[in-house]
Amino acid sequence: MSPLGGAEGGEMSDEKTTLTDGSPVTPDHREIEPNTGMQKGYVVLSEAERAKGFVRPVRNKYIHGTCGVETRMGAALAETYAREPKFYSGTYCVACRAHFPVAEFIWSDSNEEVGS
Ligand SMILES: [Zn+2]
Repeated sequence: MSPLGGAEGGEMSDEKTTLTDGSPVTPDHREIEPNTGMQKGYVVLSEAERAKGFVRPVRNKYIHGTCGVETRMGAALAETYAREPKFYSGTYCVACRAHFPVAEFIWSDSNEEVGS
């Protein structure tokens, strides 16, 4: 027991997440790029966190049910889904150029709902 308290850390670590390139999460990463409709940056679990192991296969392609078009993503995003399937509430569609709830998407390889 520490008489000072509050020094234990535990879940307070702010290094559990980074942007896809491993850089620190910025306050404006959610800003939308007008050309693409994509965010400036996307949050992922840090490399150390992803290295703890995956609970799902690493899948990098999903299909938007509404338009039927496939979107591919980078390894850091795919591994974050594999480590923590419910990490994201929404995701990007390259055809619609916008973000939608993950339940509107299925993984190309398995026909399973993204986020499940
Ligand atoms: Zn779409």
